[in-house]
Amino acid sequence: MSELRLFNTLTRDKDLFIPLHPGEVKMYSCGPTVYNHPHIGNLRTFLWSDVLRRYLEFRGLRVTQIMNITDVEDKIIRNANAAGQDIHTYTAPYIEAFHTALRELRVRPADSYPRATEYIPQMLALVKTLDERGHTYVADGSTYFRVSTLPGYGKLSKIELDASTEYGRIESDEYEKESARDFVLWKAKKEGEPSWQAAIGEGRPGWHLECSAMSMDLLGETFDIHTGAVDLIFPHHENEIAQSEGATGKPFVRFWIHGEHLNIDQQKMSKSLGNIYTLAEIKEMNYEPLALRYALLSVPHRTKLNFTTQSLDDAKSALARIDSFLLRVKELSASGPHGAKESDGHAGELIGRFLIDFEAAMDDDLNTAGALGALFTLIRDGNIAMDAGRISAADAEGIHAALMKVDPVLDIFPKRDENLDAEIEELIAQRNAARKARNFAESDRIRDLLLSKDILLEDTPGGTRWRKK
Ligand code: AMP
Ligand code: ZN
Repeated sequence: MSELRLFNTLTRDKDLFIPLHPGEVKMYSCGPTVYNHPHIGNLRTFLWSDVLRRYLEFRGLRVTQIMNITDVEDKIIRNANAAGQDIHTYTAPYIEAFHTALRELRVRPADSYPRATEYIPQMLALVKTLDERGHTYVADGSTYFRVSTLPGYGKLSKIELDASTEYGRIESDEYEKESARDFVLWKAKKEGEPSWQAAIGEGRPGWHLECSAMSMDLLGETFDIHTGAVDLIFPHHENEIAQSEGATGKPFVRFWIHGEHLNIDQQKMSKSLGNIYTLAEIKEMNYEPLALRYALLSVPHRTKLNFTTQSLDDAKSALARIDSFLLRVKELSASGPHGAKESDGHAGELIGRFLIDFEAAMDDDLNTAGALGALFTLIRDGNIAMDAGRISAADAEGIHAALMKVDPVLDIFPKRDENLDAEIEELIAQRNAARKARNFAESDRIRDLLLSKDILLEDTPGGTRWRKK
């Protein structure tokens, strides 16, 4: 197996990935702010983080992945107030919608989803430590992090601060790199806002604090991987580093991995711009979530992706090709030793090349486009070889096994419902019987019935095959 290299924002280089503790990887992914349904840009980020985890597991590593849920924050409070609800009531359906979207997109659940409101004691403990180490001050009842107290502040986003300068402070959780300021750790209570009692005064946490508190609590003071999209590099992740390293004096995260945005008309898809699509909308447009999964994976995470319906149409046809190849291979492998010629070694070459190319692509900073390219080379060459009768039943079984090997990483193969499969097979058998009896009205009726269930039939010399439309 070759070496896995991942682009690390901290070094701006593709670094060799070796986990801190042999055999196990600790990974933290910034999760959703639950004031709305996730859009497919958010989903892009959650998807590649899961694919990274899946690939680490493919390489034999044990992975613990934590993803936070930001359930108290400026926009949540504003919207909950406008709806006349408390933040728990307001965020509950969006938390549910987030989990549903991930499930539909075949993103596997993280090991846990801590919520900001459940981590107030750990956040306050962190502020206390920062205070003891001289990194904080209080102004107007809020507690701030003084960035000039931390040599190295700015190392992730590559901004340079001058320790002798006094920086203004900022209460807002989001701001640009150009206006680097002392940032808020704990916001003083305001009328109409949820708040918690604390020795440093009643209030609520700033946004950045939760990720430092949760990740160190659940994964340790130094851990392997932290993920998010590029918009989080500054200020969120820079400030997480400040809070964590300011408190522990130890390196916080070894690999910072950031994905590019999903754009629409070359602009970032974002709730604030209103140019968003949700997964539900994609489904209303008659695309399966799997088509979106494929479209998102067809571009590596560090490449900008401009979303179009054309990309979903392309995904649909790619998935159909994969589906019929899988069926053909399965059929051939089930045909037993008499079904085809002896193996001439060609299949072994195809399989070997496929697995090497797949791993080489994924090892190169998770190049999912290259991995899919390897798959389509196998499909093309495999089909040519099957046409030429060069693939034995045992060869086909080998090809199938190779596809199943990469399946846990890509997870783009059709998942067939066994009961539905049996029902379809039964109808196909009835149709074949009708055709044999030259009862074409009946065989057409069955074909149409299947079509109404979105099942397409293909009559081949090897028998009737079916696939979902
Ligand atoms: P939020 O719910 O806004 O906190 O965002 C959740 C995750 O989605 C974060 O990692 C964001 O960086 C990421 N994100 C937001 N917009 C986009 C986008 N257009 N494309 C990809 N990722 C995004
Ligand atoms: Zn975060």
